[in-house]
Amino acid sequence: MCRSFFNSLIAAIFVSFWLALTDAAIENLIRKHALANAYRHEGKADLGAVVSKIIAEQPDIRSKIREVMPAAKVVVQEVNRMSPAEQQLQIEDLFPDILEVQEKRVEERRLPALSNAVEGKVVTRFPPEPNGYPHIGHAKAAVIDETYARMYNGRLILRFDDTNPAKEQLDYYKAIKDGLDWLGVKPDLVKNSSDDMARFYGYAEQMISSGHAYACTCQPDVVKQNRSEGKECACRSLSPDEHLQRWRRMLDAQGYKMNEAFLRVKGDMQSLNTALRDPTLFRIIEAAHPLKDKKYRVWPTYDFAGPIEDSIDGVTHALRTKEYELRDALYFLILKTLGLRLPELIEFSRLELRGTTVSKRKLQPLIRDGLVEGWDDPRLPTLTALRRRGFLPEAVREFVLSLGVSKAESEPDWALLESVNRKMLDPLVRRYFFVPDPVRLEVAGAPEVKAILKLHPEKNFGERVIETRGAFYIPREDAEKLKQGDSLRLLGLYNVEIEHSLPASEEGLLLKGRYAGEDLREGLPKIQWVSADSYREFTVWVTLPLIVDNEFNKESLKIVKGFAEAACGDLKPDDKVQFIRFGFCRIDSPGLAILTHR
Ligand code: ATP
Ligand code: MG
Repeated sequence: MCRSFFNSLIAAIFVSFWLALTDAAIENLIRKHALANAYRHEGKADLGAVVSKIIAEQPDIRSKIREVMPAAKVVVQEVNRMSPAEQQLQIEDLFPDILEVQEKRVEERRLPALSNAVEGKVVTRFPPEPNGYPHIGHAKAAVIDETYARMYNGRLILRFDDTNPAKEQLDYYKAIKDGLDWLGVKPDLVKNSSDDMARFYGYAEQMISSGHAYACTCQPDVVKQNRSEGKECACRSLSPDEHLQRWRRMLDAQGYKMNEAFLRVKGDMQSLNTALRDPTLFRIIEAAHPLKDKKYRVWPTYDFAGPIEDSIDGVTHALRTKEYELRDALYFLILKTLGLRLPELIEFSRLELRGTTVSKRKLQPLIRDGLVEGWDDPRLPTLTALRRRGFLPEAVREFVLSLGVSKAESEPDWALLESVNRKMLDPLVRRYFFVPDPVRLEVAGAPEVKAILKLHPEKNFGERVIETRGAFYIPREDAEKLKQGDSLRLLGLYNVEIEHSLPASEEGLLLKGRYAGEDLREGLPKIQWVSADSYREFTVWVTLPLIVDNEFNKESLKIVKGFAEAACGDLKPDDKVQFIRFGFCRIDSPGLAILTHR
């Protein structure tokens, strides 16, 4: 009796031990299939599909499916909460095979089909306001718009939504075009909303005459109050004729002044959707317009100009960011009132990057107050800054497309964009030695050696030759770790044994060593170096998060001084390199590089 109890106890311990071991393996298997399934279906894995894949791979799981099911549910939910880009990063880390098998499907999987799309007839538009430089959020919108136009052999319109002369500037039109050029987004038509002012005025009169819009002379704070209380103002009840007269006084330079009159839609002051509480359609702005100068003084809001432009330009699918969702009803109200064709409206989430701000409004003050160098300061997420920092346009495209068109909010990390870029840059760029914060190392008994170093370990980029005579510089960070008696390997050269180490407290002291042969030994720290006889001074800018705790990070730009090997003296602005053990960099000017990423 006692003996059989013992036996079953041992058996139970054995089984639970076995289970604990296999649980991790099963969880891994679930995760692999959940990620693979999500990867193929716009970021959402299906539990049933995942379970059948698991059983297909390990048929014995079928008998314990009841125990496996709860774990499968948890893992699938966890995967589905991740953004597609985060899923991709985890796949790269844990199951790179998935990517290899599915590489070919990447392009197709990218964007879900558009509803009511007809091959050859799809028209999309990218509608930036020329009030600042384009950023990575605009890249997301523009690349999605373009991808859909190409997917259906349709057309892409670049439309400058330039109907607020108080904010817009001529150089921003060009900056936007340059940004799109760099990204490789090629619109089939470029137009300005401001070219359609006569039509906007015509539609305004139509809405006033039919009693759907009214000229309101209430002060903005009164209107605000009415909106929050759901109250209509007295202006609303005047006749269409009286409103037409008021409208003409708005257009007349001798008539109303700024803020004295607004054209509003006759919506519903009690609507639960506050966007329908008589929003403004036109306001008086007396600033000179970058293209039209003083030709107009009454300008349509985005609420009015946007839907009309989409409709008259033949846009079939208008994509915009989710914050406009509440305004969809207004968009359709205006078009229906005017009897204009209704495009499909599609919303997707706004891109934010962790540690920065992706909004022209928030970037403007950093530039105005001189906190950053300008729109191309490498800390910024503008396209011109990404370019200057060394990102490839293909990587930006790939990154934004990987986020998809879902409405799910996500705030991806720069690391995701960096990982896409790193993979693309790695086979393209030459590798050199750069020694940050250099410390001199003198090696006794060293032979004179010509080091012949390949510019890339796999690619046929050729090599450089560095003559050495036993005096070097190595990074302080490495030097400080070396103690007397330690050995190191100077990369691509020989071994050195340290005879006199560097006291951490004393700056500028020498590190002294002795030549210790060329044989490859395991476990030695491998350190990049420059010859003390031939090097170039180099500065590298290292960018850190721009915004910390909602404030501008004053430490967001670190300046690293060091020595690069002599061959780096020939590098030209815009060259991209990998500084071994330091990171990928773009040459900004002779002797100055910007760290793209590690
Ligand atoms: P900002 O706050 O930067 O001024 P915005 O939305 O006013 O942003 P627009 O020039 O009006 O900038 O935007 C043009 C298009 O780009 C719009 O369709 C807008 O939805 C889209 N867009 C702007 N910012 C982002 C973003 N962060 N992510 C995705 N799309 C964006
Ligand atoms: Mg805008």
